[in-house]
Amino acid sequence: MSDNYLLEKHNFKMQKKYGQNFLTDVRIPARIAEGCTDFDVSDGKRAESLILEVGPGAGILTKELAKRFSKVLAVEIDTELIPILEESLAGYNNITVVNRDVMQVELAPLLAEYRQQDGKTLPVSVCANLPYYITTPVLMKLLEEYGEFSFITVMVQKEVARRLCAKQGSDDYGAITAAIGLYGKAVKLFDVSAGNFNPKPKVDSSVVKISIYEPARYSKDQIEKASKVIKAAFSMRRKTLVNTLMSLCIPSFDTKEKLGDLVESLFGNRNVRGEELSTDQFVVLAEKLYF
Ligand code: SAM
Repeated sequence: MSDNYLLEKHNFKMQKKYGQNFLTDVRIPARIAEGCTDFDVSDGKRAESLILEVGPGAGILTKELAKRFSKVLAVEIDTELIPILEESLAGYNNITVVNRDVMQVELAPLLAEYRQQDGKTLPVSVCANLPYYITTPVLMKLLEEYGEFSFITVMVQKEVARRLCAKQGSDDYGAITAAIGLYGKAVKLFDVSAGNFNPKPKVDSSVVKISIYEPARYSKDQIEKASKVIKAAFSMRRKTLVNTLMSLCIPSFDTKEKLGDLVESLFGNRNVRGEELSTDQFVVLAEKLYF
């Protein structure tokens, strides 16, 4: 049975503004938690790892994570859910719930505290059924602000999942696809139909796992420069890369002529569009632009 009876007991009203669509079938969070690790929990052991969960809701995924990982830190914005979580998670001693807006949390000090266990620093990953209204800002915050996650496994709207995992040059390839490539590789694990949520959303969802490069593939400086170029390149759809790069106002590349020469020298075609470039190519371009 799911914990949705607790919602009734506490007279909880779903808040649309917080993107509250709760999972109802426990098999789905079990699959999501399994997707986070290849660790076998059948012998009762847990992976030595801290999992950060964004938005535990009533705790249906939180419990599945707590069965498989040594520690779970869940950040929930909605104060009304805290007594419900206290009740639903009562049987677990390895879960901490923090009543905060994840966008306002400084991740490094918070995680530094919870990563300590028996004198060791635990590896840390993220697992979440993300609130749809802030999927991209949360993902970008996690990637940009904290460089030490091993995996980020998230359930998002199916259409967003397609963008996260898109192939270079495809219709779904955009700024978020190229930006994720600066940090790791995104792979879709499975789809979840809208009927598995309460309330039922209009669209289906997918679970995506981003494996963060270890060691990091690019330096902080490369990421900073490439991020600017990626944002500019996708700011105006259907324009050529050269046209979009003008918005960067780089003194040594202040004309379309100069930008065109650079783009042609790198990619053999001055009319190339942003969606045709891989993350690697954005990094190379950024290094030349901001030499
Ligand atoms: N994990 C639960 C599940 O799978 O049933 C709930 C998922 S629901 C899609 C998203 C959750 O994120 C809700 O509990 C919501 O209150 C919470 N949330 C929304 N915005 C948040 C924020 N900025 N910081 C932390 N939690 C947030």
